[in-house]
Amino acid sequence: MQAYDLLVVGGGINGAAVARDAAGRGLSVCLVEAGDPAGATSGASSKLIHGGLRYLEQYAFGLVRESLRERTIMLRIAPHLTRPCRFVLPLHKGMRPAWMVQLGLWLYDKLGGQDVLPDATRIRLDDGSDWAAPLRPGFKEGFLYFDVQVDDARLVILTLRDAEAHGADILTRTRFLGAHRDTAQDGIWQCRLQPEDATQATQTVLARAVVNAAGPWVSRVLDTFSEMREQPQPGVQLVRGSHVVVPRCYAGEHAYTLQNEDGRVVFLLPFHEHWTLIGTTDVRTELPDRAEDAPQASIEEINYLCHAASRYLNHPVTEDQIAWTYAGLRPLYDDGKANPSAVTRDYRLVLDKTDGAPLLSVFGGKLTTHRHLAEVVMDRLAPWFPHLGETWTADTPLPGGDSDGHDFSAATAEFFQTHGNLPEAVTQGLWQRHGTLAFELLENVRAAADLGQDFGAGLTELEALHFIRHEWAHSADDILWRRSKAGLMMSTEQRARFIEWFQQHGRKQ
Ligand SMILES: Cc1cc2nc3c(=O)[nH]c(=O)nc-3n(C[C@H](O)[C@H](O)[C@H](O)COP(=O)(O)OP(=O)(O)OC[C@H]3O[C@@H](n4cnc5c(N)ncnc54)[C@H](O)[C@@H]3O)c2cc1C
Repeated sequence: MQAYDLLVVGGGINGAAVARDAAGRGLSVCLVEAGDPAGATSGASSKLIHGGLRYLEQYAFGLVRESLRERTIMLRIAPHLTRPCRFVLPLHKGMRPAWMVQLGLWLYDKLGGQDVLPDATRIRLDDGSDWAAPLRPGFKEGFLYFDVQVDDARLVILTLRDAEAHGADILTRTRFLGAHRDTAQDGIWQCRLQPEDATQATQTVLARAVVNAAGPWVSRVLDTFSEMREQPQPGVQLVRGSHVVVPRCYAGEHAYTLQNEDGRVVFLLPFHEHWTLIGTTDVRTELPDRAEDAPQASIEEINYLCHAASRYLNHPVTEDQIAWTYAGLRPLYDDGKANPSAVTRDYRLVLDKTDGAPLLSVFGGKLTTHRHLAEVVMDRLAPWFPHLGETWTADTPLPGGDSDGHDFSAATAEFFQTHGNLPEAVTQGLWQRHGTLAFELLENVRAAADLGQDFGAGLTELEALHFIRHEWAHSADDILWRRSKAGLMMSTEQRARFIEWFQQHGRKQ
């Protein structure tokens, strides 16, 4: 029977980060993911690495400080996946007063410490500035501040690839069924795993520790441990958040932070050159029976988001413009707050160490704090692993974020110069998704013909095969909507052609 130091349940950002951290510190690690990595909450976020300005209203200063520190680290270790973005926050009568917003932004800058991003400034919106161009007339002033956009699904995939590069076994499409402590072997966990492929039998592996990072399913996974059923468990509040994507509603690379009538904040975010991402909502909800049943944006949420954007924009956003919607479930640690927007976005780690190997469960958390969360997880498990290596992830770039000691922008320039003869959509897409790994992908490519079929929207056969062989892609959707967003950019015919190619060629890989 295969034995590991650590078994991680869940291939969202938190599980991936724990697997990477632990593998790099010398533990033997296995991660199991029931579906596709980032197929649940971690691929359905607002795609921001941010302090969370509004958490200041909840006095969550510690969370904001930690998040802003992580923002600086992520810009450094994942320059290919992150992008600093200016946020325009128009002031609106009846909403938070200017002094309160100014104080919040001042604090935001202070908590950011030695941050690389510029401080917030107060701006006029009635002087014909570009910031005001898409807004209805009447806005007099606002604020400009910085946060960071990220490709959430790529962040998960590349974190997993790094875990694998450090020796972790990554088993996707494999469900964790349950575990019990083997009293004959010092209480080590015997874990049962079920591959999705029905032709494969249930496997049993041993683990000296288990981390339950199953996101919305954290309590359900906890219930599968026979020892845990009798013990009181912390609660999880599930809060659905939806987004809509529409053709770009304004020119420019900036975002808008809009205060809505109900006091909530809705973002307008630039998304993949030609689109605007609008989100999000907070709707308390129930857990779907199966992890693979993706939550959907409801009609009410779609109307809410269109209405929130239209209150501010010259040209209203209407339902018929919507090209794509997605929704995710926030697995929030239940702190007893009735208003879903007020429930803490911080995480809690719950450690069970009764009579044997430890089990640690992750409740809540943000995409932004995943790397630090993993460090804290390993600190908690350190007593069981006396030979655990030093912390390392804050200074080590994710795959593709390394420019060999050179400036990343110099590596970017070199890439586009070297491959200037290839279609621009292809090189742009490769660089954004893979960073410096794109050099390797194009190692044997001399001309466009070497890329194989061009499926449109910058997706080629060469990259699709890479997703299948090296990034665990099992279906056309895994590629069209997660590893790339080509699905959004393609025509119906192009998507159909890719799905057909995948059915013929993808499965053989
Ligand atoms: C709408 C929305 C917007 C958000 N925006 C932001 C943002 O902009 N910035 C930010 O910092 N945070 C944001 N968040 C929060 C952030 O996305 C989540 O906190 C984070 O993605 C949670 O990651 P996770 O790994 O814990 O869970 P998940 O990503 O849900 O991963 C859990 C995984 O466990 C797997 N699993 C479950 N059961 C089993 C089993 N039995 N066996 C094997 N695998 C199993 C699931 O398939 C799933 O892939 C947002 C959340 C939502 C919902």
